[in-house]
Parts: sequence; structure tokens; C-alpha cells
Amino acid sequence: MARRLPYFGKKQREVKKQDTMRKIAIYGKGGIGKSTTTQNTVAGLAEMGRKVMVVGCDPKSDSTRLLLGGLAQKTVLDTLRAEGEDVELDEIRKVGFKGTICVESGGPEPGVGCAGRGIITSINLLEQLGAYDETLDYAFYDVLGDVVCGGFAMPIREGKAQEIYIVVSGEMMAMYAANNICKGIVKFAEAGGVRLGGLICNSRKVDFEQEMIEAFAEQLGTQMIHFVPRDNMVQKAEINRKTVIEFEPTHSQADEYRTLAKKIEANKMHVVPKIMTTDDLEKLLIKHGLAG
Ligand code: ADP
Ligand code: MG
Repeated sequence: MARRLPYFGKKQREVKKQDTMRKIAIYGKGGIGKSTTTQNTVAGLAEMGRKVMVVGCDPKSDSTRLLLGGLAQKTVLDTLRAEGEDVELDEIRKVGFKGTICVESGGPEPGVGCAGRGIITSINLLEQLGAYDETLDYAFYDVLGDVVCGGFAMPIREGKAQEIYIVVSGEMMAMYAANNICKGIVKFAEAGGVRLGGLICNSRKVDFEQEMIEAFAEQLGTQMIHFVPRDNMVQKAEINRKTVIEFEPTHSQADEYRTLAKKIEANKMHVVPKIMTTDDLEKLLIKHGLAG
């Protein structure tokens, strides 16, 4: 039976001290590398002395594993199910690499309820418990989904995240997903003020990938903020339950993530994207993909 989850209302909104906190959501097709890229970038920001909270918004609940060294994190929904509504902040957040604060929203019991609902519940609970009142420099939402709908739109509605980065590669489906996510951003841009900060190209070693994603970004009215190479060190670190930055700090891939962290920190390009038609997207793929 679906038990009622608590509704945390609007009353917290005016007490938040968020003036300097940047709230960033990472979107992209499943398996594209959102969680890996988010955690490595956050590790880079943490090394720079920034105070960061990561909120996993994927029922897979693997958004913080590398920062926590693989510790099984009890999700917000699991905690609510186990303890009822009387939950304390420290039960739902754990401290990871260099002081990063890690939260996993979790998901409904398999086959029951809407996965997006968990995200709404989690973010509302975090707000109600004052998780955003502290002196955070960044909150990152790692969000599943090819389309931005229902609960998966929650992080970008009502100003919860002001800045979106889309992880993409030169593979067609990843680009379709990115274009769809842009539709969601456009939809919420007016009411919530959300903007696109850029595309992060997480390479799949597709031919002419960098040029193609740069052209794609230009069409969307945004930028390719960084090209992250594909490197087996990412998997090696992952098997060891660590970010590359923690596992092999002198490796070139660690520097790629540090560069991305610095670029995000310096980024001032926040746009309402222009949507591409499917036709134009296919033309772009043909032009660049078959250019050689
Ligand atoms: P998502 O969160 O988008 O579903 P993940 O971050 O879990 O995707 O990444 C999926 C897989 O791809 C992981 O096993 C990860 O190790 C691998 N991966 C991600 N980025 C890279 C990269 N730059 N180089 C090599 N492997 C990568
Ligand atoms: Mg993930």
C-alpha cells in the first residue's frame, strides 16, 4: 500500500540564505556519465576549498558512491519509510571526500509509485530541515532522464536549480536527449529562471565528436564548456569506489575534471536555449558525422 509521504510546504522559502550558493543540475541520457562527471567535478571543487552538497536524483542511488568510498547510503525515501516523518538531517546526509555533503533521494519500491515523486519529497524535506541554510557554495543535483517531466523537472522548477549542464556525447541518442532536455529548460525558464550553462561532452570516441558537439552547442545558443576524454582510469577509480581525483590525483584525467570544475566556477554564460528541430539535428549529424 502506498503510504502518504509528508508534504513540506512553502514556509521555509523565505528563511533560506542562498544568495551566494550556486544550485546546479546535471542532466543527460542514462549511462552518459552524469554521476561520474558530477562527482569528479565536485571533487575538483572540494579540492579548491568549496563546500558542496550533492543530491542524487536517480532511483539508482549511485550519485554519491565515489565521494563516499562506496558506503551504502540510506536514501531519503528509505529513511522516511523506516522512521516516518520524524527525520533528522544527519540521517539523510553523509560526509564524503573533502567534506562534500552527500544525499540520495532514492526511489519507490519497485513497481510502486512514480520515481520522480521521490525527488520532490527529498528536495522538500532537505529544504524543510534547513540543509540549504548553511554556508554552501554549491548544491549539485544529479538527475536521471532523457526528458524533463514530472518529478524529474523538480530540480529546475521554482528556482531550485538555476543552472543546468547537460552531459552529452557525439552519439545520436545522447544528442536527441540533450535537445529534449533543452525543451524542458525552455518550459521552466520563464517561471523559475532556470538557464542552460553549457554542454559537457563526455567523449565516446565518436569521429569528429568535438567539432560536432561544438556545432550542436552553437545551434542551441550555448557552449561546449568542456570536452572530457574517455579514459579507462575512470573505470579503474570506479572499481576502487573513488573519483579519479582521489584515486589517481596526478593522472591527466584528474586534471580534466579539475579544469571542468574551474570552468563551471568561472562560467557566466547562462542562456535560455534554442530548440533544434529533429530535421536540423539530423542534418547536423550528417554534416559532421560524415564529414570525413
Ligand atoms: P549516468 O550517471 O549518466 O547514468 P555514469 O556516470 O554512471 O552514467 O557512467 C556510466 C559508465 O560510464 C560508468 O561505468 C563510468 O565509469 C563510465 N564513464 C563515464 N565517463 C567516462 C569517461 N570519461 N571515460 C571512461 N568511462 C567513463
Ligand atoms: Mg547516474
